[in-house]
Amino acid sequence: MTDTSTATPKKSIFDLYPEELESLLIDIGEKKFRSAQVLQWIFQQKIYDPSSMSNVSKKTRAFLEDSFEHKFPEIVSSLSADDGATKLLLKTEKGHNVEAVILRYKNRVSLCVSSQVGCKLACSFCQTGKLGFFRNLTASEIMSQFAIASSIVKKEGKKISHVVFMGMGEPLDNYSNVIKSVNLMIHEKAYALSPKNVTISTSGVVPKIETLSKDTKAALAISLHAARDDLRTELMPINRKYNLDKLKTALLNWQSDTGKKLTIEYILIKDKNCSKTDAKALIKFLHGFRAKINLIPFNSHPGMDYDKPDEKTIREFQKYLSDRSYPAPVRYSKGMEVSGACGQLAAK
Ligand code: SAH
Ligand code: SF4
Repeated sequence: MTDTSTATPKKSIFDLYPEELESLLIDIGEKKFRSAQVLQWIFQQKIYDPSSMSNVSKKTRAFLEDSFEHKFPEIVSSLSADDGATKLLLKTEKGHNVEAVILRYKNRVSLCVSSQVGCKLACSFCQTGKLGFFRNLTASEIMSQFAIASSIVKKEGKKISHVVFMGMGEPLDNYSNVIKSVNLMIHEKAYALSPKNVTISTSGVVPKIETLSKDTKAALAISLHAARDDLRTELMPINRKYNLDKLKTALLNWQSDTGKKLTIEYILIKDKNCSKTDAKALIKFLHGFRAKINLIPFNSHPGMDYDKPDEKTIREFQKYLSDRSYPAPVRYSKGMEVSGACGQLAAK
């Protein structure tokens, strides 16, 4: 009998880029067009079980079966809200739960994925931050969220067109796994999403922002939330290490290297960051950027001292920006009903 406890764990199909898988198949004697068929099953048909790949040779199916794991995390729960959001709770192999949220809009389907179990960065307003840090997700665990959500929306005749790394965790604190997964999402021979539709959201891990443009074509969003150092440090402790000056330099470099528009996320928190002084500081910070600014009224949750400002404050803040040629739409998070909105992800 084989002792499976000492067997090397199988790889995931998502540990490889399409070219790497193709060359493995060519190495075992498969023809090029056959390896292309395998890629088609995986990335277009989203069929991961080799036994279902009907036009693939027996030998290749057996090779895939022996070499790769094609099981996905179990769906522990799936909660849908009336606004088109579905929150998925997935159990990873190591027993941790992670969350992903499907957001259905009129003409697109967006998926919000997690990159870590918990987060080290302890932003004062964030549920995930309150959890502390457990571990990084592997590229395969990130891709599994995409694969599971894709098969759910496929049954509705829909396709995921956008991915945002705005679930649990700080993506740039799990750099190599996040880079691998965003690059699989946008790779032409893999899921082929448009690079501008795959967005990494960061709280400002400056050294990683500096290397991002050479490692991926994906889009970038910065969670700014304050444009004064004292206040930003209070809300986001990472600002102590990488202050607004350093952050701005790294973001401007990313922008000039990529030629892309930056997305700036600014949560509006009552009596904290939405005064005229704050709006003024934000305008000063924005100088030099080609950016899209999203204003997000704070999502309150139990046990949190913060609240969202009243409508008048929100509109005044927005008007201050638009009067100075910075249009800033107010975005209300979807999925509040199912605790699937930004900052509410805290799978235990
Ligand atoms: N760590 C990354 C990505 C995950 S957080 C980051 O911080 O960007 C995703 C987004 O949700 C961030 O913009 C974060 O600031 C925001 N967020 C966290 N708590 C929130 C809350 N209570 N209300 C609204 N947005 C929140
Ligand atoms: Fe981490 Fe982002 Fe939450 Fe800050 S806002 S604690 S970086 S997940």
